[in-house]
Amino acid sequence: MNSLTTQVVVLGSGPGGYSAAFRAADLGLDVIMIEQYSTLGGVCLNVGCIPSKALLHVAEVINESKHAEHLGVSFGPATYELDKVRAYKDSVVGKLTGGVSGMAKGRKVQIVHGYGSFTDDRHIQVVNGNETTLIQFEHAIIAAGSSSVKLPFIPEDPRIFDSTGALELKSVPARLLVIGGGIIGLEMATVYEALGSKVTVVEFADQVIPAADKDLVSVFTRYNKDKFELLLSTKVEAVTAKPDAISVKFSSATEERSFDAVLVAVGRTPNGKKIAAEKAGVNVDERGFIAVNKYLQTNVPHIFAIGDIVGQPMLAHKASHEGHAAAEVIAGHKHEFVPLAIPSIAYTSPEIAWVGLTEKEAQQRGINYKTAVYPWSASGRALSADRSEGKTKLIYDPVTDRLLGAGIVGIHAGELLGELTLALEFNASVEDVALTIHAHPTLHETVGLAAELAGGTITDLP
Ligand code: FAD
Repeated sequence: MNSLTTQVVVLGSGPGGYSAAFRAADLGLDVIMIEQYSTLGGVCLNVGCIPSKALLHVAEVINESKHAEHLGVSFGPATYELDKVRAYKDSVVGKLTGGVSGMAKGRKVQIVHGYGSFTDDRHIQVVNGNETTLIQFEHAIIAAGSSSVKLPFIPEDPRIFDSTGALELKSVPARLLVIGGGIIGLEMATVYEALGSKVTVVEFADQVIPAADKDLVSVFTRYNKDKFELLLSTKVEAVTAKPDAISVKFSSATEERSFDAVLVAVGRTPNGKKIAAEKAGVNVDERGFIAVNKYLQTNVPHIFAIGDIVGQPMLAHKASHEGHAAAEVIAGHKHEFVPLAIPSIAYTSPEIAWVGLTEKEAQQRGINYKTAVYPWSASGRALSADRSEGKTKLIYDPVTDRLLGAGIVGIHAGELLGELTLALEFNASVEDVALTIHAHPTLHETVGLAAELAGGTITDLP
């Protein structure tokens, strides 16, 4: 058995893990990062955020080429070579994972490949084939992420896969069922529909993306009404793998329906129960989450946890900010992780983006609020792009005028959300936003115009 000693060991190399490792190294600490796979970057870079965005870009190019006919421009039917699409996606992933490796090397962060688990509160053992390395640490940062939720009644079959399988893009099924209308399910539905699958999305709740406000989601639903079949308030009761098709029984019908492939996208579950945390005395709840305080410390003060494993929202940017905070606390800096706003984005077409308080939450929590909504049908930029289906909504306190939250649906909504996230972090009032001069004609102008509607400096729309 090999033995290593370090000041900081990071378990997992996703956005949380590598951000923590690099920040700790930059602050002069000796760092080891453990990763079970051969490439660094975790779910996000390898099988999450990045490959999905590369494929969504391909989908957008295909959809734009169809859309152009409407503008009097025709490219003819789009064709693609699946091998080349896959290669494009892999090249994007490769650039970023290679970049993370280079950044680790540049900082002398030692990478130990293999499966890590605690043996006590000062040691992690890493097993890689026949080789075992025992790492003694002063501080540990658990950044072991999450895995796709499996549904127990769904059989093992190569035609049934999770998001990782969907991103492999082995083939394009004629009829694809997506179980779960969350962000991941809808992004994959967007990709496969553009590539030619007939897509059905089934969702247990009465709307897709249940965390987002209904008025935003309904814009997406209307825009895509001819693209996806949406089965809402519907449960999948049985799935049977037959030689010629996957047969699915829905709660809404007596007849079973046949699909050529099924994507199960019903959420992610934390990996907390898979790292022998109990041997270090770290508390893991029954779902696998590890509770932390605002310094990202677990109940064992020299063991920290960050990213998907500590709870919602399971997002890369939350993980990386937590990673920086944990590293700085270990290095003796004063840093608390207390963000006012964490943005959420579905990179669908149109995109759905929100930050801060939603109307849904405000109603549940009995918070007094008002909204100001600017429809993109009155935006010169959106009309020029022939994508005027969107809207920009501000949620604010009618007494103090403080901005409480925001939601945008439309093309590039995710990019537009940035200024509102900053406004929330800065505790801005709606008047602050209204007095900020937004360039004309832009999509972000709709943020300023929504604020002006709230303040009454404009009273009607073109
Ligand atoms: P992870 O990225 O999960 O990394 C954990 C790492 O730890 C993995 O590499 C794993 O192999 C390693 N590991 C775990 N246990 C061990 C062990 N015992 N030994 C050794 N190594 C171990 N988020 C966004 O913000 N934007 C998006 O657009 C987005 N798109 C997504 C699309 C998909 C399809 C999916 C699945 C997720 C997406 N996410 C997105 C979520 C995002 O990927 C996660 O929130 C993020 O990766 C969490 O980072 P993390 O560092 O906590 O863990």
